Amino acid sequence: MKIGVSSCLLGTQCRYDGVGSKDSFVVEELSKYFELVPYCPEAIIFGTPRESIRLVDVEGEVRVISNKEHRDVTKELSDISKTLALEAFEENLCGFVFKAKSPSCGIERVKLYENNSNMCEKKAVGLFAQAVKDKQPLLPIEEDGRLNDPWLKENFLMQIFAYADLRKFLDDTPTFKALVEFHTSYKYLIYAKGQASYKKLGAIVANHDKKSLEEVLEEYKYNFLLAISEKGNINKTYNVLLHIFGYFKKLINKDEKEHILTACQEYKDGIIPLIAVVKLLNLYVKRFDDKYLKVQKFLNPYPKELALRSDLKAYK
Ligand code: SF4
Repeated sequence: MKIGVSSCLLGTQCRYDGVGSKDSFVVEELSKYFELVPYCPEAIIFGTPRESIRLVDVEGEVRVISNKEHRDVTKELSDISKTLALEAFEENLCGFVFKAKSPSCGIERVKLYENNSNMCEKKAVGLFAQAVKDKQPLLPIEEDGRLNDPWLKENFLMQIFAYADLRKFLDDTPTFKALVEFHTSYKYLIYAKGQASYKKLGAIVANHDKKSLEEVLEEYKYNFLLAISEKGNINKTYNVLLHIFGYFKKLINKDEKEHILTACQEYKDGIIPLIAVVKLLNLYVKRFDDKYLKVQKFLNPYPKELALRSDLKAYK
């Protein structure tokens, strides 16, 4: 599985000032699970070190201007960005981590300056990030800065692992039966993202209109990628926990029921992390050997070593 990254996040000394911006989560954690594919549009066309650049609003159009010589380098940066975005597409990436705030790599809130002024608003997108988004609108993307937020990090990791899973499933020449199995395993994870997506995907798989396998897979792929791009929250996750509890409630005694319900409530109240409840539920899944729950990705969405669900702040 491959993930694209802004080269400077690996510590490569490709920034305009000749240094890197090594990100420890990318280098030490993501690299354990993904092959990291580096991209730096600016170093390719301008070399390193180089004059810094900024995004400038020139009569309503975003231009890229160098800071010292005031050269307009929009075309050069735009062309290399499109070329690299195409290369990224051909690499079959499962996600991309961009460097925040950069006029090339920032995915949001990049400074856009007024023409001939130092006044700016944080409202632009870097040219390379935009080119990647244009080429692959549903590719999971994040920035280094935003990944310091445990909630965004958990959502992003869940999204890229699900994205990689879907890709593998589609590459294995799927059948209708395989689609039902794949969808079944994602039911509660999707439910935790949003009920509308859950219903939509269920209807696609049911295929009441008797569409061809190709049509159904195409529709499923698009809507699945949309669903996993939604952010989960405490209330939606709490509902899923209660649904899963529903599978055991007639099979366990009063004390056990109370124990599970208290854990779910404590998670909802921000007292215990999600992993504590999931571990408890997994005990019952094992005890009753529930085949349906055993395959649910919601209960094991990514390698447990990432420990994302151990953080109370991973859910809002
Ligand atoms: S932010 Fe992007 S363009 Fe700038 S140094 Fe890093 S990888 Fe290169």
